[in-house]
Amino acid sequence: MALEPKILAELKSSLLKEKEELEKNLERIAKPVNEKKGDYETTFENIGTDREDNATEVEEYSENFPIEKTLEKKLQDVIESLEKMEKGTYGICANCQQEIDIERLKINPSARICIKCK
Ligand SMILES: [Zn+2]
Repeated sequence: MALEPKILAELKSSLLKEKEELEKNLERIAKPVNEKKGDYETTFENIGTDREDNATEVEEYSENFPIEKTLEKKLQDVIESLEKMEKGTYGICANCQQEIDIERLKINPSARICIKCK
């Protein structure tokens, strides 16, 4: 059973909105390596060269790094979901190949696996 075009269009627009938001948040702390793939790199800001500046740089970097990774992962899921929509394989669990429940997709349009495999 394929998803209704209307529902699919709704999910697509929420995915695009999410993508935009994730990119905006990522740009604050990272620079894109491969924007198409959602590949980012945490920026290491050079504040200054004395010891205190260096400590601040390291601190900021280690604070931003896990945030960047989480956002990046999410963005890649979103991109993957959009690609699957193009290919017509959207909404299929990546683990058991069963259809993902529509209610789950409505809450989390970039879900890759179904509720049972979660
Ligand atoms: Zn599954």
